[in-house]
Amino acid sequence: MNKQVSERQWFSRRKGVLAAVILVVVALLTWRGVSAGKVRHIVFISLDTCRADYLSCYGFGKNTTPNIDRLADEGILFANAYSTVPLTMPAHSSMLTGTIPPRHGVRNNHENSLAKSNVTLAEMLGPEGFVSAAVVSSSVLGAKFGLGQGFDMYNDRFENGRSRWHGSERIAAETTRIGLEWLELNKGRKCFLFLHYYDPHRNFEPPEPFKTRFAGNSYAGEIAYTDHHIGKVVEKLKQLGIYDSSLIIVAGDHGEMLGEHGEESHGYYIYSGAVKVPLIFKLPGRRKAVQIEEPVSLIDIVRTVCNLTGVEAPSAVQGEDLGRFFRGGKTIERQNSVYCETWLPEAYQANNLQGVISGQWQYIRSSREELYNLAEDPAQSKNLAVEQRHQARTLRDSLERFVEDSVRDANEANFGMNSRAMQQLKALGYVSGAGDEGMVEFDPDLPDAKDLIELHVAGRLVARSIYEKKHKMAESVCMEIFSRWPNHVETYIQMGKIASAVKDYGRAVEYLEKGLLIEPENSKAHTEYAVVLASHGHIGQAIERYERSLRIEPDQSLALNNLAWIKATAADPVYRDPKEAVVLAVRACELTGFTDSSVLDTLACAYAAAGRFGEAVDVAQQAIRRADPVEHQQAILRIQKRLQLFKAHSPYHEEQ
Ligand SMILES: [Zn+2]
Repeated sequence: MNKQVSERQWFSRRKGVLAAVILVVVALLTWRGVSAGKVRHIVFISLDTCRADYLSCYGFGKNTTPNIDRLADEGILFANAYSTVPLTMPAHSSMLTGTIPPRHGVRNNHENSLAKSNVTLAEMLGPEGFVSAAVVSSSVLGAKFGLGQGFDMYNDRFENGRSRWHGSERIAAETTRIGLEWLELNKGRKCFLFLHYYDPHRNFEPPEPFKTRFAGNSYAGEIAYTDHHIGKVVEKLKQLGIYDSSLIIVAGDHGEMLGEHGEESHGYYIYSGAVKVPLIFKLPGRRKAVQIEEPVSLIDIVRTVCNLTGVEAPSAVQGEDLGRFFRGGKTIERQNSVYCETWLPEAYQANNLQGVISGQWQYIRSSREELYNLAEDPAQSKNLAVEQRHQARTLRDSLERFVEDSVRDANEANFGMNSRAMQQLKALGYVSGAGDEGMVEFDPDLPDAKDLIELHVAGRLVARSIYEKKHKMAESVCMEIFSRWPNHVETYIQMGKIASAVKDYGRAVEYLEKGLLIEPENSKAHTEYAVVLASHGHIGQAIERYERSLRIEPDQSLALNNLAWIKATAADPVYRDPKEAVVLAVRACELTGFTDSSVLDTLACAYAAAGRFGEAVDVAQQAIRRADPVEHQQAILRIQKRLQLFKAHSPYHEEQ
């Protein structure tokens, strides 16, 4: 009895102490839980085209982002986070693989896909039991570009989307709805949700009440509208009871120049406006707000998530673990500097831009190299590269080392270079040698990107005007370009397109031939020439042009697709070659990951032409599933008609 009483008394006396011990243990477990792989829910939110300095938690004058601010109040805000590229697809490739573009191989939107040899965060988390979904909001991130690797669901279909000159897109309300429906279904499992919001990208047309609230600054209005939806995501997490067990990451993919340094939009320069982005981590549990000044990179997200979930990051991952900052650290020993690049200047025969940020410095390698003190000169108006020669030299060396270490073996990086279709194309004489992927050659004698910004701005205006069918406007800008840059081949190609669009065949040919006189091996000019020839019924000549273009540059999905189309469906049987059509179309499908509707349509026609109707039916059905309901309404109807033909064992041929 006594013993029991005394035990009870002991318990009673010690109750307070014990409770305190339990609290400490729980706290430790929670903390250990975060660091030892117990994160059950990951919500990774990507804000497209989002400059850091437009968020109120980053000091913007108006209250643009109350919901993100609240996450920052309980999380870790990186005041100096940088994107690797001011372009959507390459930046997202970095965010989701933890590697810089010289390693993952995606340098531009539309032009490259993320090769299968890359490992995405979804692929890393999958084997650890995480079910994953991505909801993307721009066709720039369409599944055909390879970012969907590893995701159990990759939603890139915009049922209620809208069309823009840079592709189709959907608004935040739709993205949120789809993401939250998925979350509701999967809340009981370990899950990884990737949400991509495209609203802050041009055009800036925020819905009400944000339009009125941010009248005069519609870019800020779009950011506020997106933030409103992030509020809805947080609300849902709380409602489902998983907010406290969730790791929430908010990051911008790149910024927007808004006229700084003469650039209206983004992609051409790698100054702060284009590459400095928000980055916030809200860990499971609650903690006090922490702000980190040390420069970090979007490539650091992957390794950090791996460490928080107890997943071993693949050796290719180049980012750092930011976990050190979560444990009170203020600095980090980076293996490499924070890296950024853009390959857009290459389109103007200028040197591409590559840079590093280290401490308060940004170094940019260009024909006239640049060095800025970001702490004293955030507007980057005073180039110190000459004055601070030693600093510039040190950073250039670290940049070059990092890039050299990053470049993979070219053969490893891209699109099944040894596939059967590739071997067959070689046998048909289309492929002479491998492309020279990888290392960026820097030639100090090439023009400096800074001297060609006006050409870039004018070129964008031409492209947009052509998309909007404002052909007169497009032509007058082309003439202005010729008056300053008479040898700009891209503008000759654009004039070819404009003349062809207004059915002036003679002028189209004239401009394309002028362009080819300047640069006889320009594959894009040959392809455009072939398009013009085919659309005016010169099928034989079009075939020759496509073949010539593909001998110069074999991996052009457009040229492969168009040539396959002719060889499968030409009205005149003399031009048909179903076997070759299949080879060309398969290769075009390989380059677009078997996800591009129009390329799949061509392959279906090629199979049908070759009498392989079962495969034709199968691929035509895939083409319908993959078609964008906004952009391809008419195309879907046409493919459905062809599908009926294939089911009846008939090939499809164009009419005379
Ligand atoms: Zn973007």
